[in-house]
Amino acid sequence: MTVKVRFAPSPTGMLHIGNVRAALITWLFARKEGGDFLLRIDDTDVERSKLEYENAIEESLTWLGLDWDQKANQKDRMEIYTAQIEKLKDDSRLYPCYETPEELSLKRKSQLSRGKPPTYDRAALDLTPEQIAAYEAEGRTPHWRFKLNDAPIEWNDLIRGEVKFNGSDLSDPVVLRADGTPLYHLCSVIDDIEFGITHVIRGEDHVSNTATHVQMFEALGASAPIFAHNSLLSDKEGGKLSKRLGSLSIIDLRDDEGLEPMAIISLLARLGTSEPIEPFQSIAPIIESFDFAKFSRGTPKFDQEELMRLNAKILHDMPFSDAAPRLAGLELSDLDESFWLTVRANLEKFEDIKDWWHVANGPVQPVIENPDFIAEALALLPNTPWDKNTWSTWTTAVKEQTGRKGKALFMPLRQALTGMDHGPELADLLLLIGPDKVKERLDHKKAA
Ligand code: GLU
Repeated sequence: MTVKVRFAPSPTGMLHIGNVRAALITWLFARKEGGDFLLRIDDTDVERSKLEYENAIEESLTWLGLDWDQKANQKDRMEIYTAQIEKLKDDSRLYPCYETPEELSLKRKSQLSRGKPPTYDRAALDLTPEQIAAYEAEGRTPHWRFKLNDAPIEWNDLIRGEVKFNGSDLSDPVVLRADGTPLYHLCSVIDDIEFGITHVIRGEDHVSNTATHVQMFEALGASAPIFAHNSLLSDKEGGKLSKRLGSLSIIDLRDDEGLEPMAIISLLARLGTSEPIEPFQSIAPIIESFDFAKFSRGTPKFDQEELMRLNAKILHDMPFSDAAPRLAGLELSDLDESFWLTVRANLEKFEDIKDWWHVANGPVQPVIENPDFIAEALALLPNTPWDKNTWSTWTTAVKEQTGRKGKALFMPLRQALTGMDHGPELADLLLLIGPDKVKERLDHKKAA
């Protein structure tokens, strides 16, 4: 069987750390199996769907490296849905309902106050032709529900294991609005059939929808695909992540937080699995190790600090070949391989490279607490040309002459050379700063 999966975002908001996890799991599975990945834009809700969100979703996926083999928009497929809906009406699997939203809300409240589950009571099935005529005369147009069979619904979920529902415990879902537009449930099932989707992978917030979908597949004469429902992320304290999702869109994490796509991928691919969270430079080994069996049903905690730490680790090991195109984009001089290898271990975000460029190129304000010591060090600077041994030659001489060692020797030199008390290896930095600027910075009379 050739695997075919889909990621089906609604373009009613941004792709964020919560909903992109389903995209990643779906994509990893497709790539592992050599299958096809369909990007299906669920835009039947014309009022809430926006092209700018659709574009942002595509931009986010592309930036993360999650490509798709095919794309479809539900809004272009209305005729297909209508044809299937008519069939289901003919089979009496859809029935018209005339309740207003207010009436439905009252019903739910009264059921809840009587300790009953708020499932739809199917009152519409008992309407007489006269009552229907009266509603229509009032100007009401019906919405339509899918009639669930009173039968057990079971599937073997690739993440959750055996899942069981009973049709009689579920509300008949509304599949067609009063204005004639079809809703998510049926469109999704029709598309899953039409596109030959073999595995439906989505968040666990869809588990009870899936139960109704299983009967829709049957009603449309198809067999249901295999399902996998990933657990949803919680925040660091175990609370709902949804409150924070506004600031966790992929585009904001890229633009405002300056994160690497591989930091997000590395974290989301391993969160809630039996494998350790590790920094990955590329997605290939993650595809290789992907297995639904490693995903747990528990709620994984999302910790932004962890994402930041992974980001730094990825930068610390990033090969020059990966960094080079982006360094070129910064339009600063001399961002060559030796610069990259010298400073990368000090980056938390890629943008920090600019700060280290300034340290190397100046101007910097040297910090000189003991001018006599720095003057002695200046006088002992080795002759040019300098090489990778210059630092050790120099500091050995300074140590011999001044008796200073360890921090008392190195910290004043670092502060004089960089104006800071931390940073890349001085042996390498010395060469990046170069003899002229090193002398200038150590010359405290000029610096003062
Ligand atoms: N548009 C739905 C959502 O974003 C799709 C769910 C599904 O994968 O079927 O939740």
